[in-house]
Parts: sequence; structure tokens; C-alpha cells
Amino acid sequence: MEQNPRALALFNEGFKKIIEGIGELGFDVSKDENFADTALRAAKGFHELVHDQAQAQAEVAALLAKTFPAKYTEMVISKHNTCFGVCPHHLLPVIYRVSMAYIPTDKVLGLSKLSRLARLIARGPRLQEDLTHELADILHEQLQSQGSAVYIEGLHMCMAARGVGAHEARLVTSGVRGVFLELATREEFIKLVTAPPTTLV
Ligand SMILES: [Zn+2]
Repeated sequence: MEQNPRALALFNEGFKKIIEGIGELGFDVSKDENFADTALRAAKGFHELVHDQAQAQAEVAALLAKTFPAKYTEMVISKHNTCFGVCPHHLLPVIYRVSMAYIPTDKVLGLSKLSRLARLIARGPRLQEDLTHELADILHEQLQSQGSAVYIEGLHMCMAARGVGAHEARLVTSGVRGVFLELATREEFIKLVTAPPTTLV
């Protein structure tokens, strides 16, 4: 995705200040060559984790516009998609494992589209709870499906690498819409996405 020049310039200014702060802590940031282009490099890296929302929405719309007619009206699941974002409270990275499902009415998305959709929505300062709801809403309302379900495990750096230091803890969120509100359907989805991994090939 194209980087927004104005946002990039602002991030660059911010990271220059951060490097100054690092200098205050006794690191030789002015003489060490490793820091020479760090502000801009860090700004570009951070921008990769926070997408321009106008561009992201346009991509989501384009992606949802390409569906295939289908007679299949069972559960379609895409599980264990790794996605990245940052939390709005600390701006530290979050690694998500996203599983999602929907039951089509008369159209299905291409398989890779589900992975792309999750990756697009995840990139930003977003609460994991909001990411969960947003994905469930898109897969139900915008895709006009019979229902949708989303299950996300998040490894939050703000919890793993600082503060409480709980690197083994995962934040788990789930959301269901439409026919997934029925307990049996919801349970089948959770059972399928939390099943222990098996070797496929
Ligand atoms: Zn946080």
C-alpha cells in the first residue's frame, strides 16, 4: 500500500525526537552510524503497521466487489491468518491469529480474499475487540451472508515485552452474527478453529 507522504513526514519528525531521547539515556546516537537513517526507516516501518484508512477502505470495497456465485450454503472457514497491527494505548505491535467464517447466501469470496481482508483491517491502532467486530460485520452485512464468526488470538507487545511481561498470555476475542448466534453453529466454529494443528502435507 502506498505510504501517505504527510503522515510519513510527521512520523519521521516524531522518531527524530525518540532518537534524541535515546541519546539522553547514554546511547551514542550522533556518532554511531547505525542511527544515521533510523528516523526515516522507523517511520516507514511504523507506517506499514498503520495503513491509510481511505486507501484501506477502497481496497476492502474492491475486494468485496469480486464475488463468485455459489450454491454452497455451509460454513466457509479461513483459519490461523497471521496479521499485524498496533494497540491504540501504547502504539506497540500486536500479532494476531485470525480465524473467520461465514455461511453464504448465494455468493462466495475468493479464498485469498479472506486473508487479505483480515490483514487490511488489522493494520492500524485498533482495539482487538473492534477488529473482531469490524470483521464480523463486513462478513455478514457487506458480504450479505447468512451469518459470520470471527475468533482472534492476540499477542500484545505492550503486555509481553513490558509491564506485566506476560509473553505467554494471549488475548482472545470472538464475535458472531446472523445464524452463528445459534449455539450449535457457534460451537462448531469454535471447535474447528481451536482444534490442535495436524500435518496436512
Ligand atoms: Zn497496549
